[in-house]
Amino acid sequence: MISQEEQKKYNDWVFQISAYQMALALISIDKMTVAPPAGGPYRDARTAWLSGEKFSLETDPEMFRLLARMKDDPDLDGDTRRAAFLNWQKAARTVCIPKDEFVASEELLNQAYDAWLRAKMADDYSIFRPYLEKIIENKKRFYGFRGSSASIYDQMLDDNEPGMNEAKYDAFFADVKARLIPLIQRISAVSPIDDSFLHRFYPAAQQKKFTNEHLLPYLRYTPDWGYQNETEHPFTYWTCEDDCRTTTKYLENSVTSSLFSTIHEVGHATFEHNIDPKYDGTILAEGVSAAMHESQSRLCENYLGRTTAFWEANFPALQKEFPEQLGGVTVQQFVRASNAAVPGLLRTEADELTYPLHIVIRYEIEKDLFDGRIGTEDLEQVWNEKYREYLGVEVPNSRDGILQDVHWSEGSFGYFPTYALGSAYAAQIVHKMRQDIDVDEALRSSRYDICMNWLKENVHHYGCRYDAPEIIRRATGEEFNWNYYLDDLEEKYTRLYQL
Ligand code: ZN
Repeated sequence: MISQEEQKKYNDWVFQISAYQMALALISIDKMTVAPPAGGPYRDARTAWLSGEKFSLETDPEMFRLLARMKDDPDLDGDTRRAAFLNWQKAARTVCIPKDEFVASEELLNQAYDAWLRAKMADDYSIFRPYLEKIIENKKRFYGFRGSSASIYDQMLDDNEPGMNEAKYDAFFADVKARLIPLIQRISAVSPIDDSFLHRFYPAAQQKKFTNEHLLPYLRYTPDWGYQNETEHPFTYWTCEDDCRTTTKYLENSVTSSLFSTIHEVGHATFEHNIDPKYDGTILAEGVSAAMHESQSRLCENYLGRTTAFWEANFPALQKEFPEQLGGVTVQQFVRASNAAVPGLLRTEADELTYPLHIVIRYEIEKDLFDGRIGTEDLEQVWNEKYREYLGVEVPNSRDGILQDVHWSEGSFGYFPTYALGSAYAAQIVHKMRQDIDVDEALRSSRYDICMNWLKENVHHYGCRYDAPEIIRRATGEEFNWNYYLDDLEEKYTRLYQL
């Protein structure tokens, strides 16, 4: 039982945290899109201070004790108990870190992002390496404070995807490798799909025009709740269900890059937009786990965005915008080319089939980094060797190799595996969706909202109310089963390449 006074205290506390969160999200969006780099040090110091204030609130000892009572209080409703539990768990994980160390680490992360960007532009890993070294040191020390008997990397995996660990991912990735590597090898032995027309010159301004005037309206991503900007590494941030920002990056030699990244990021934004508004401002108003979030973005990108039905509705307008580049191309040729499996250097540009191998590479490297088998000085060489071994490609520079992803500069480790796991969640969810509604007809007739409404009802509206395995169960009526994913890929690519 908690008193009225305690309830008020709790409500005020939740509101204050959401205010800090909103400020920090907006500062991050600004930093990664339009903020002039020279103002970086000034901003980074103040952003770190704000993070410290939020940290103090989140780990407030009095509130920590109240949360511990609330999470098990049978007089409270299920929503409140769940929110109290998640807040308590979050505090329990960070309360052991000294505040000054936390603030210093936040400032380091802000500086590391700037350094990563400079290193990438200069194509020089040595600019970023000292920052990465310090980030890893901090991570190891912070996780050590928790005093858990689990390995550091297991704890990181669990933080990103509750319930996951190395043993479970090892089993998943063993199947991924066993089933997909032979398939990729069979494909490399047959003649490739011609996708050269996707790599003609596509001026960024025209791509942007198509996206704003055609693609975003089709996806129902409207200015009353969303806004798209440009950045180096596309991401989505939100403050509440009615303010979900996305970003994209236009490549003038690859028209599908920003198209699919836009569909992906709008998938994340739509998830947040569709969460039950009664959770607004609370810890429940968030996709429940990293993999569940990626499942929704990758479902939109791959299971909707790469279908013929999707492009039957959208290709005519794209062709009209680019008559010279796409004039003689049919919608079937466009879709085939957009699905071609071509082992490459860049994860974000990868096709559906080779994509999980990019993840396997990062997963294995992170494991070795945190289990002490390799250090930051070995990273570039290990990276390049793994690309040769798993994907058969030579990495020509750091920019398209070790420096391609933003994640490590943000201190995000154990996140990459959730992309592959999310793809597997997506396969199972879309399987059920196709039993319930005519997905192709909805896409073809520009009724993308019908698919989004199905996802809203079956996945999105829960937010953090249940954990990921429970949401899969509720949405599909089954336990999670990654065979849907691997079966789909085998079926799709055997058909596409007529193997
Ligand atoms: Zn994503």
